[in-house]
Amino acid sequence: MAQPLIPTYDIIGVGFGPSNIALAIALEEINNNSTTLNALFIDKQPEYQWHGDTITSQSGLQVSFLKDLVTLRNPTSPYSFLNYLHSHNRLVDFINLSTFYPSRLEFNDYLRWVAGHFSAQCQYGEKVTSIEPVMDNQKVKLLKVITTDIGGTSKARFTKSLVMGTGGTPLIPKVFQPLKQTPLVFHHTHYLSKMTKLIPVKTKDLRIAIIGGGQSAAEAFIDIDDNYPNAKVDLIMRGNSMKPADSSPYVNEIFNPSSTDSIFSKTLQEREELLKEYKYANYSAVDSAMIEQIYNIFYQQKVAMVEQHKYCPNNEVTQASEKSGQITLSILDKKSNKHATNNYDLVILATGYERPKMAPMLEPIKDYLGNIDIDRNYQVKADDRFLPSLFLQGRSESTHGLSDTLLSVLSMRSAEIAFSLQAELREKVQQVATTALA
Ligand SMILES: Cc1cc2nc3c(=O)[nH]c(=O)nc-3n(C[C@H](O)[C@H](O)[C@H](O)COP(=O)(O)OP(=O)(O)OC[C@H]3O[C@@H](n4cnc5c(N)ncnc54)[C@H](O)[C@@H]3O)c2cc1C
Repeated sequence: MAQPLIPTYDIIGVGFGPSNIALAIALEEINNNSTTLNALFIDKQPEYQWHGDTITSQSGLQVSFLKDLVTLRNPTSPYSFLNYLHSHNRLVDFINLSTFYPSRLEFNDYLRWVAGHFSAQCQYGEKVTSIEPVMDNQKVKLLKVITTDIGGTSKARFTKSLVMGTGGTPLIPKVFQPLKQTPLVFHHTHYLSKMTKLIPVKTKDLRIAIIGGGQSAAEAFIDIDDNYPNAKVDLIMRGNSMKPADSSPYVNEIFNPSSTDSIFSKTLQEREELLKEYKYANYSAVDSAMIEQIYNIFYQQKVAMVEQHKYCPNNEVTQASEKSGQITLSILDKKSNKHATNNYDLVILATGYERPKMAPMLEPIKDYLGNIDIDRNYQVKADDRFLPSLFLQGRSESTHGLSDTLLSVLSMRSAEIAFSLQAELREKVQQVATTALA
């Protein structure tokens, strides 16, 4: 039987989240009337969702809507949040809200609307599992992208260039690693589906531990307080207190697109110092209004003299185990240096995300990638034997700055990548033509 022909693309994007959606737009908008590049984006989700399992009624966008997928680069783009509002007949109502910060529910709908315009270029429901080298004359000529769909069927595609836009991976602290298979301990990334599955009766008496003191922990705490009236929550965090996200104007300048150049041009030590100084503008930081809301919940407990929830700063979980449907946590109070042992029905890990440069799927090509040094235009500096181009989105915070994992510079970054891709691929086409004529 004849083997099915494996298709070859100019570009394959792994993941179709905001980073690669912005790239799809940039490729369309800055095409310079040259030949259209044949691009395909592959996403493991069955349909578009932006961190959909974490969106509660409290979740608000933590960046101005003007930092959408396009506006900073091209305010006249049809893919702007404003045009989304206009197309949905809500522009004037949104103006009446007098806010720059729509709900994440609405921003999710905006992203889904934009993604829908590129459905012909996106394959949903396939997880990319491996990127393999296709050799020619001792050189990697193409990349073979292997995927598996929900039914377990594998597929292969060839590509001349690859753009990774896979986002973060839930970070499970070491102490909770042995409980990874326990449904009673889960990362916040699965919040809604796990809560719906595990707590069908919302009025049940439950002891819940939320681990973490950042925005996700705060959103989960308020959601549980609103919707699970008998739940008793311990809000356990290592820090001294919940800290507000600093979005004041001078601090916010660190997220300006121009900061990318200035940060990239600094020395390693200077960059590290900057990241340390501005860390609280992004990490382990909570929207101020939400901190006030949480403080008020605890204050009302004092008024009622009922200690339903506990606020536990300076607390570190040192051991975790499961027995008979209960999770037991040993918790060190770092102020008093005393240990407590508590039992919980559920533990929610609002412990953030990690973004290793070397994704497991890149293992088969790792020998060509050195230390994964990323240039200013987000391309991996591979060795001479590696002819395809490999770009990483959201993996260069240490060199390009804090915006790297956020929405803030997406519109600009995607254009920088699109320009590089167009230039490289055009050059390769010319090389092939010159060789053919010679
Ligand atoms: C809960 C939450 C709230 C946030 N809120 C904000 C905010 O308000 N403002 C802000 O600026 N930033 C926010 N962020 C940061 C967030 O990282 C960015 O907003 C944005 O989502 C980054 O886009 P991305 O495309 O790089 O990654 P993601 O949005 O994570 O998208 C990655 C995509 O890749 C797909 N994928 C992953 N692995 C594979 C694979 N092997 N094969 C195929 N597909 C794969 C995933 O299904 C996903 O669709 C938030 C993050 C979280 C987790």
